[in-house]
Amino acid sequence: MQDNLARRAVSLCLCEVLILMPISTSFGQSTSPSPVQTESLRSYLQKSYLELFELAPTLHFSVNEIQKQRESFGKGEDACVNRFKDHVKRYQKQIDSARADLKKNTAKMTAEQRKTAHCNIQNLVLLNSEAEILAKQAIPTAYDNLNAKLDVIEKWPPLYKQTQQEIASNTHLKRRWSDVNDIGFREIEAKQQDDIKRGQQAIEELKRSHLMPPEVEDKEIQDYVNTVAQRIASKSDLKVPLHVVVLQSKEINAFALPGGYLFIERGLLEAADDESELAGVLAHEMSHDVARHSYKLMKRATIAGIFYQAAQVAAIVLTGGVAGIGLAYALQYGFYGLGMVLDLKLLGVSRDYELEADKLGVQYAWNAGYDPTGFTRFFDKIATKEGYVNGVSWFRTHPAFYQRMVETQREILFLGHKPDAIMQTSAFEEMKQKLAPITATAEKEEVKKPSLLMTREEGCEAPKKLEYKPGQPIEELCAMPKAK
Ligand SMILES: [Zn+2]
Repeated sequence: MQDNLARRAVSLCLCEVLILMPISTSFGQSTSPSPVQTESLRSYLQKSYLELFELAPTLHFSVNEIQKQRESFGKGEDACVNRFKDHVKRYQKQIDSARADLKKNTAKMTAEQRKTAHCNIQNLVLLNSEAEILAKQAIPTAYDNLNAKLDVIEKWPPLYKQTQQEIASNTHLKRRWSDVNDIGFREIEAKQQDDIKRGQQAIEELKRSHLMPPEVEDKEIQDYVNTVAQRIASKSDLKVPLHVVVLQSKEINAFALPGGYLFIERGLLEAADDESELAGVLAHEMSHDVARHSYKLMKRATIAGIFYQAAQVAAIVLTGGVAGIGLAYALQYGFYGLGMVLDLKLLGVSRDYELEADKLGVQYAWNAGYDPTGFTRFFDKIATKEGYVNGVSWFRTHPAFYQRMVETQREILFLGHKPDAIMQTSAFEEMKQKLAPITATAEKEEVKKPSLLMTREEGCEAPKKLEYKPGQPIEELCAMPKAK
């Protein structure tokens, strides 16, 4: 018991320290800079994918240096994940013992003591959930991105040369779906209309299980996003009517349910900085419907079966148990957690299908007149600026890996540069202006009417510390010395 208390105290102190720690101490790894580069390998990995595509051919890190960095990441990820798995276990023990105490003493407790006990359990559940989301989602995602960027530095230069040669010799015209002049007249996948019913069923189930956030009540914002989406759809291979809805949710994500049902969460509109980024995301999502990925992945799974699982997760949260994917934490931050509970089969997400949707999405955004780098820039932003915990939902449904980044870049090069490609529009900027007060109001209401989790005992003080601050680079989190 004494030991346990001491450990908690140490861990509390370390959490204060880690927030102040500079990134340069990450992993205790110092890569000696080679004479050509002015910066260390580690510092290049902080750059965006698009910057790295530009820079990589000018860099000359040795195979040895890259290998050492890769090994260091492997060890760093294991250590960091294990640390937070330990935290999960520790919080769970504390929850169990707090519940046992409550049960034992409930008859003789004053109202105030009871409230303190309830708040304590509630906060422990939150901390447990946060540690879990860090261990299972945020930390692995951060390392996925770092490793993918390391791969870009190592492998992109020769691949870039090859890509240029393919263009010069016109062999790129033999690639799959190279017939971009026939978009809308070619067939990517027959019978898209057969998926409409499945999409409608999924929406009904989402509403029935109270997982579907409400719509943003602003006709102009809905109309704007709809206009952009329909413009892209009309320049795509989509053969079913497209329905577009902006949802009142802070989560940074967008989804296509089967059969042409596109959902964009408010958080994504907040995170996007120009119309080509939004267009890139919309084009990517509708590509899943074009290629019927959900239909192919669901096979014999039924909508009812898929939503039974989602309802179970929601039920665990509602009863104050610990959900499998840190949902309590997501809810505390006002996310509805749609991206956390939706079945990846329903969304058509797999590594192969992400590659397909990336390729088609880039083609559709390009064909609709947009700068096709929008999707990559948005992806970069979530990987770099937004911080991994805020992006957990996005990366669950859009896993980061080297191949998708380079294949997207190759497709952009194959399509060729359009001098008048659209990046920003005044309509986008007007939408952002209208969105700002809507976001402010929604956030105020979220504070007044806290999440599902926090309505169980009202007026509790929030935990004194959370392990993660929104926007904090994950490297800082893992840089702290191991608690003994
Ligand atoms: Zn996707």
